[in-house]
Amino acid sequence: MAQLKSRSSTEGKSERKKLVRQIGNRLKNHFPKKNRSGGDVPFVDALTAIILSQNTSDVNSHKAYQALRVAWPRWEDAADADLDELAETIRIGGLADQKARGIQNTLRAFQEQWGDFKLRGIEDVPDDELLEFLTSIKGVGLKSASCAMMFALDRDLCAVDTHLHRILNRLGIVNASSPDKTFRDLRPLIPKGRARELHVSLIHFGREICKARLPHCFECPLFDLCEWEAKKEHAAAKKQGPKAVSGDFLITEGI
Ligand code: SF4
Repeated sequence: MAQLKSRSSTEGKSERKKLVRQIGNRLKNHFPKKNRSGGDVPFVDALTAIILSQNTSDVNSHKAYQALRVAWPRWEDAADADLDELAETIRIGGLADQKARGIQNTLRAFQEQWGDFKLRGIEDVPDDELLEFLTSIKGVGLKSASCAMMFALDRDLCAVDTHLHRILNRLGIVNASSPDKTFRDLRPLIPKGRARELHVSLIHFGREICKARLPHCFECPLFDLCEWEAKKEHAAAKKQGPKAVSGDFLITEGI
């Protein structure tokens, strides 16, 4: 059967911009009490914590970050630390060797660029320039870079992880093969000043409603806007029980 054309290929940019605004408004109303403000965290701390949070639980990444800061309270010392020792210290966070290398690469790149870890003037570096610099560091991906910029520098960006990637593709806002492509395709569609708020709303939406497996389409505030072909089947499953959804694994994996 010929593939149906998705909204992302048939609708113009202005329609999709309107849709993103509509989605942002609905989610803001649906999750009114969720925290939408950024923290007052130094950029180095934020990026390091985000690197440590990859593929692990919040509890273990927090423990790894604490262990790192206890062992090396000064970033200068962590930058010069023995790599094996660094990896051993953060082992509880998983992927320890890879993360230790990423953290040390980051710290050394900051030292080389700024001379110290105060990063004076970083707030004046334009978004694209800073994203390019950060993603040139081995071990720092687009998601980590944009997430740190969003929360520690208050940049108007919507970082895209696997959850946002899944949701935005199901909705038909984008038709992208990777989170990085989703980030790039989504970026020009977000109303000015609303990117971080959208990110936070979508994170909660993915955890509570548009889950990877067995999404709660039956209670979704975006049901009428969503293009996902399996949404009716998932909405009906509420009445019949979760086993009524056939091949759930197949339809949700890879999105
Ligand atoms: S209808 Fe279902 S798949 Fe679509 S956005 Fe809502 S929960 Fe996600």
